[in-house]
Amino acid sequence: MTSRTAPPGPDPDQPVFSVWGPDGASIHCRICGAVDEVVFTEVPSMAGYGEDTSARCTRCGSAETTDPIFGWRATPATWPPPLEPHQP
Ligand SMILES: [Zn+2]
Repeated sequence: MTSRTAPPGPDPDQPVFSVWGPDGASIHCRICGAVDEVVFTEVPSMAGYGEDTSARCTRCGSAETTDPIFGWRATPATWPPPLEPHQP
């Protein structure tokens, strides 16, 4: 049997996005590599106070969200998208 190490995959504790560009004015998706394809939304939180914010990559769907109850969390998408196995 071959021994396998943990496959490189999404880590919910790792940030999805990082600043990018010489002046840090762009946002880089660390999952799929898209730059400035991030949509930010802010909505009043269902917690009744504060607001929920989210940043979502329009290319791969990875997201970072923040809300008053759970705080920050990342929801990395699977990238590249898994291909359907097509074995003969
Ligand atoms: Zn992405």
